[in-house]
Amino acid sequence: MRDLLGGKGAGLAEMTRLGLPVPPGFTITTKACIAYGRSGRFPPGLLKQVDDGIQAIEAGSGKRFGDPSNPLLLSVRSGAKFSMPGMMDTVLNVGLNDETVHALATLTSNERYAWDSYRRLVAMFGRIVKDIDGRKFDAILERYKDKTEGKKDTDLTADMLRQVLEEFKSLYRSEIKVDFPQKAQDQLREAIGAVFRSWGGKRAVDYRNFNKIPHTLGTAANVQMMVFGNMGPDSGTGVAFTRNPSTGAKDLFGEYLANAQGEDVVAGIRTPYKITELKDHFPAIYDQFVRGAELLERHYRDVQDMEFTVERGKLWMLQTRTGKRTAQAAVKVAVDMVREGLISDDEALLRVEPLHVVQLLLPRFDEAAKEGARKEGRYLAKGLNASPGAATGCVSFDPDEAERLGLEKKPVVLVRIETSPDDVHGMLHSKGILTAHGGATSHAAVVARGLGLPCVAGCEALRIDYDAGEFHVGERVVRRGDFVSIDGTTGEVFEGAIRSIDPDFDREEDLKTLLGWADEKRRLQVWANADYPRDAQRARRFGAQGIGLCRTEHMFFESERLPVVHEMILAAPEYRRVSAQRRSVAADLEAAKGEKRTDYERRLESIEPTFRDLSRRYLGSLETLGKLQKEDFVGVLRAMAGLPVIIRLIDPPLHEFLPNYETLLVQVTKLHLARSDPRLLERTAASEEDRVFLDEVQEAGKGDLARGIERLIPEKEILLAAVAATREANPMLGLRGCRLGITFPEITEMQVRAIFEAACQLKREGVDVHPEIMIPLVGHVNELRDQRDALEAEAKKVMEREGVTVDYKFGTMIEIPRAALTADQIAGYAEFFSFGTNDLTQTTFGYSRDDAEGKFLLSYVDRKILPFNPFQSLDREGVGQLMRMCVQKGRKVRPDLEIGICGEHGGDPSSIELCHELGLNYVSCSPFRVPVARLAAAHARLKGEITLTEDR
Ligand code: ADP
Ligand code: MG
Ligand code: MG
Repeated sequence: MRDLLGGKGAGLAEMTRLGLPVPPGFTITTKACIAYGRSGRFPPGLLKQVDDGIQAIEAGSGKRFGDPSNPLLLSVRSGAKFSMPGMMDTVLNVGLNDETVHALATLTSNERYAWDSYRRLVAMFGRIVKDIDGRKFDAILERYKDKTEGKKDTDLTADMLRQVLEEFKSLYRSEIKVDFPQKAQDQLREAIGAVFRSWGGKRAVDYRNFNKIPHTLGTAANVQMMVFGNMGPDSGTGVAFTRNPSTGAKDLFGEYLANAQGEDVVAGIRTPYKITELKDHFPAIYDQFVRGAELLERHYRDVQDMEFTVERGKLWMLQTRTGKRTAQAAVKVAVDMVREGLISDDEALLRVEPLHVVQLLLPRFDEAAKEGARKEGRYLAKGLNASPGAATGCVSFDPDEAERLGLEKKPVVLVRIETSPDDVHGMLHSKGILTAHGGATSHAAVVARGLGLPCVAGCEALRIDYDAGEFHVGERVVRRGDFVSIDGTTGEVFEGAIRSIDPDFDREEDLKTLLGWADEKRRLQVWANADYPRDAQRARRFGAQGIGLCRTEHMFFESERLPVVHEMILAAPEYRRVSAQRRSVAADLEAAKGEKRTDYERRLESIEPTFRDLSRRYLGSLETLGKLQKEDFVGVLRAMAGLPVIIRLIDPPLHEFLPNYETLLVQVTKLHLARSDPRLLERTAASEEDRVFLDEVQEAGKGDLARGIERLIPEKEILLAAVAATREANPMLGLRGCRLGITFPEITEMQVRAIFEAACQLKREGVDVHPEIMIPLVGHVNELRDQRDALEAEAKKVMEREGVTVDYKFGTMIEIPRAALTADQIAGYAEFFSFGTNDLTQTTFGYSRDDAEGKFLLSYVDRKILPFNPFQSLDREGVGQLMRMCVQKGRKVRPDLEIGICGEHGGDPSSIELCHELGLNYVSCSPFRVPVARLAAAHARLKGEITLTEDR
C-alpha cells in the first residue's frame, strides 16, 4: 500500500479506517508521479479522477470547490514511501481567491482568518509552485510584524493581513509576470504538478542519496479538505510523538500552537508550547487525542509521530508516521515494547539500527570540564535539547561553508536562525546544529536526530546577524570561526571548546539487554582488534569473544624502544651478509686440508670481530625488544584469559620504523651547509619541523650548535644510508609481511619466543591462555611453510625449556588474491585464516588506499563509477567473491578451519552481513565497534531468516 499511496496517504487511509477524525480526501498514486516525471504531463484520465475525488469530498462536506458562496478549500500534500521530513512540498488553502476569501470571512464571521489563509496560499504557491524565493515573502511579513506591539504574526490585524496579501500578490506578479491564478481548478492542477516535480528537486535528491532511498519510487499527492487551526483562540495546530523521541520515555511528547496553521509548529515560526498546554485549555480534546495516539501506537506497534489540528474545538488528525528517534530512544523503546508485550525480541533487534549503537557510544562532555567552562564564564545560553550528544566546533552561519569545512575535516557547528531543507548539505558535514528558533519538532531537530548529530534548537537568547557573521548573547559576541560547544542532551551552549569523554557502556542497561538478545540470536562471533592490554580489557567489557588482531609492530613505535628498533634494522642486512660469509668460510675450512686450512682459519678469525659486533647490535637489540614484547604479550593474554588471542607477526616494511628519507636528506644537507656558519640553522628555522631539528642539534652539542653539527653529521649520514637502502619504489608491495620474516628470520623468531615465553609464564600462574600466531601477507604456500616450520620449532623449543604446554594455533592472513585462489594449498599449513580485507581490497582493486582516497576514490563514488567506498564496505562482487572461494577451498581441506575477518570492515554492518553469509566464524573490529557488530551479526541472521521464509 505504501508503495502506491506513499507513507502519508497510507497513514491517512489507515487512520480513517480506524475511525479517527480525518478530513476527507483522496490520494493520487506514485505511479502518476512517475508517469508525470517521464512525460512532463499528467497521465490520461488523471484529471477526471481528480474531479471525481473532489465531488466526493464536496458531497461529504456540503461545500464546493471554487464556489464563491460556500467554498471548499484543499491541501495538496506530497508523501513518498519513506518519510522525508520537510523534504517535499505541500500547498495549503488551495481554492482561495479574491471572491472566495470574502465568502470565507462571512461564513466564519472571521475576517482576520480569511485574509491570513489567503496570504499563506499566495506565499506557499509562489514559493513551491513558482520557485519564488520564500525570503521575499517573509521580508514583507516581517515588516508588518514589526509594526505591531507584540511583533508576532498573531498580532497582525485583518486589515494588515489584507495589505500583506496585496503586497504578496504584487510580488508574485513582478516575479512571474502574470497574476496569481484565480481559478481554483488551475491552482489545484499546478499544485499537484509541483508536488510531483518536487520529487526531482535538488534537496529531495540529496536527501535520498544520503539515505540510500531509490530515486525511482516517486511521491504520491494527497488532496484533502482543509481544516483550520488559525480560526481563533479555540483553534490550533500541533505535533506529537507517542513517546519521547529523545529519551524513549513513555510519555506523550509534543507541541501545540494556538491559532496557527500547519507549518507554523514545524517551521519554528513561533516557539510553541508543550502539549500540556492543550491539556490545560481543552481537556476533552486532549483526552480524545491521547486515546487516538494510544490506538495508533498499538495498531502500528511502534512510536507514532502525529500531526493534528483543532478547528473551533474539534480535533482533526492530519498525519501519522513512524517516529524518528535518537539512538537512546530507539534502544529504550525497543526494549520497553518487548516488556509491554507489543513486539518480540527479534523485532526489537531489527528496530535498532547498528549505527544507532555507534551514536549511543558517542562521546559526551566531561562534566568537570563543563563545570570548569561554567566557572570561567563561558556558559552562553540554554536552548532546547533537540538531539543528544556533545559537539565542539567553529561557528559557521553558512551551510555551504559548513560543508566545505566539514569536507576538510574541520569541526563545525552550524548556527542558523532556523534551518530549512536547503541547509541539509551543510548539516550533513557539521558536528552539531544550533538554532535560535524552532522547537523539538522543528526541521533542525528532526534532521539532526536522524543524522545522529547533536542539536540545540530554539535558543532564543541568540541574536544572529548573518551579514555581520556573528551572534550576540546579551553583551557577548561570538564570531564566525570562533569555537563553541553545544550539549544536545541538556540544551546548553558554551563558548570555546570543552573536553568530551567516552560514554560508560556499563551503565547502558537497556543497550546491554538488547545486545544480550542479539548474542542469543547471532551465529557469528565478535572479536576485537587490540594492540594493548587496555584495549583488550575494553573490548572484553564490550563483549568481545577473542582478539582477532593484535599488531605487534605498534610496540616497536614507542619512543623509548625506537632507538633499539633502529639499531636492529641498521644492523640486520650486514649481519645477514657477514654471517653467510662466515658460514661459507667455515664450511670450506671443514673440507680443506693442510696449508689451505690455515688460510681459512685466518680468514675466519678476521671475520670474527665484525661478526661479534654485528651480532651484538642485531641479536642484542632483538633480545632487548623480545623482553619488552614479552611483557606486552603477558598483558594482552592475561586480559583475555580463557579466550583466543591472534597475534600477528611483524607486517609493515622496515622503513616505516625509520625516519623519512626526504627529511633526513634535508637535515644532512643543512648540517653540511651550517658547518661553516652554525647560526644558519637558527636563521632559516621557519617551520615547526625546523625548530624541532634545531633543538635536536642544540641538544646533541649540549648547547653548542657547532659541536652538535659535528656530532650529528656522521650519525645522520649512517641513518640516511640505511634509509636509502631500505627504500622501495612501492613499499606496499615490497619487503613486508612474511617476506620480512623469511628474509630476517631472527625477527619473527624473537617474536614467537616472546609470545611463548609470555604464554608459559601465565600458564604457570594458572592463567588460561590461547595464543594464535598469524603470519601476514602470504601469497604462496611455500612462504607459509617456510615460516611455520621455523617458528613452530622455536615455539616447541620454548615450551620444552619451560616445561609447559600451551594450546596454540598457527595460521595466516588472507590478503593477497593468490592466497585466496590457492586456499586449499594454504589450508594444509594453517589452522586458521583471517581476512585482511584492507590489503585484500587494495590488491584486488590494485589501489593503494591512501593514494586512492586522497586522489580519486571519493570522486569515483561521487560520479557513481563505484557504488561506495570499498574500504568502508566490502565489495561483494570482487573481494567478496574471492572470500567465498577461499572459504570453500579452505574448508574442503580442513573442515574445522577457523575463519574470521580483521580490520575496519569487521565493524561495518553491511560487511558483517556478508561475513555471516559466507559462514565465517567471527568478525573482529575495533573495541568501540564490538557492540555494533554484536547487533549487526544478529541482524544478519534475522534478515537471512526473513528472506528464507519469503522464498518459500
Ligand atoms: P510534511 O510532509 O512536510 O509534514 P504535510 O503534508 O504534512 O507536510 O503538510 C504540512 C503542514 O500542513 C502540516 O503541518 C500539516 O498538518 C498541515 N496540513 C496539511 N494538510 C492539511 C489540511 N487538510 N488541513 C489543515 N492542515 C493541513
Ligand atoms: Mg506533515
Ligand atoms: Mg595487511
